[in-house]
Amino acid sequence: MAEVRYEQASRIYPGTPPVMAVDRLDLAIDDGEFLVLVGPSGSGKTTALRMLAGLEEIDSGRIAIGDRDVTHAPPKERDIAMVFQSYALYPHMTVGQNMGFALKLRGVPKETISAKVTEAARLLDLEKYLDRKPKALSGGQRQRVAMGRAIVREPSVFLMDEPLSNLDAKLRVETRANIAALQARLGTTTVYVTHDQVEAMTMGHRVAVLKDGVLHQCDTPRTLYERPANAFVAGFIGSPAMNLHTVPVSERGAHLGEVVLPLPRGATADLTEVTLGIRPEALRLVGPEQDGFKLTVELVEELGADAYLHGKALLGAPDQRFVLRVDGRTPPAIGRTVNAGLRDTGEIHLFHPGT
Ligand code: ADP
Ligand code: MG
Repeated sequence: MAEVRYEQASRIYPGTPPVMAVDRLDLAIDDGEFLVLVGPSGSGKTTALRMLAGLEEIDSGRIAIGDRDVTHAPPKERDIAMVFQSYALYPHMTVGQNMGFALKLRGVPKETISAKVTEAARLLDLEKYLDRKPKALSGGQRQRVAMGRAIVREPSVFLMDEPLSNLDAKLRVETRANIAALQARLGTTTVYVTHDQVEAMTMGHRVAVLKDGVLHQCDTPRTLYERPANAFVAGFIGSPAMNLHTVPVSERGAHLGEVVLPLPRGATADLTEVTLGIRPEALRLVGPEQDGFKLTVELVEELGADAYLHGKALLGAPDQRFVLRVDGRTPPAIGRTVNAGLRDTGEIHLFHPGT
């Protein structure tokens, strides 16, 4: 077990123009932590993971695992095990042989390998399948074999790159809970890559949000949700996404239609506009006599107890759309005009425009 540190670590892919895939990444991962790297496609997640694995050059900065600087160490000497999206199982080997193969290469005695494979198979509920070939397994079972191969190696760090993306939605939800439970039990430092913010939020002790190779925020899921550092993180975390709109500011506050939101003193010094962030659950339908802003209902997503109302605001500015969480039993009809206001408990986030 070990902590992991990226210090100003960068990877620039050569080419014309060169691609700054990971830009001076500073990230310290605690011993035993489950750290998720999340971001849209192309944000540098896989590159950051491969830099840690030793599969990608580090062009500047350094990476340490435990007290060892591994910046230039070959993959074999890093004491890590990686689980790939494709699983990369050997088709001609049985499940048991697949799981034990890395130990066999290391010259570990047969009995030891067998004991470790049996133990991992027990943890992963694979005991019945040890003699099968991968092609005779379901997708979920193959995924578990890939996990088993990493576990038997007892590495200091697990690295996982979108390991659930080949599973169907229901199995993905089950498996993410199983992986989180297994990690908690083993206590092995884990760096897990996904583009799926729900996966990130449900699995990570902390979540690091990347965009264009730059780390925007690394915090617990709750802190990311409640105190996003900028409008990008605010819009990326949470589903449906936070409503983000740039609105005019006067000395009275930010103007959202007739609603004037008083701003903390100094929050918008010299700004004529501010980007407001309001989560769907912070808004509600209010009576026409109450302070609010008018919306034309464009879509209602019914989820049972709740519904998400998507509406176009009649605020003057074109195409300002909002999503509100409303009572699922009485959602208004599409095409109607409704009045939206803030819940008493509704939080408003403020961002500098353009962040
Ligand atoms: P993610 O895993 O978040 O989707 P990647 O780390 O795969 O992102 O890619 C980050 C950026 O680096 C992207 O712009 C991608 O096109 C580029 N990239 C990735 N691999 C290579 C490569 N081998 N050569 C050149 N550019 C690459
Ligand atoms: Mg990737």
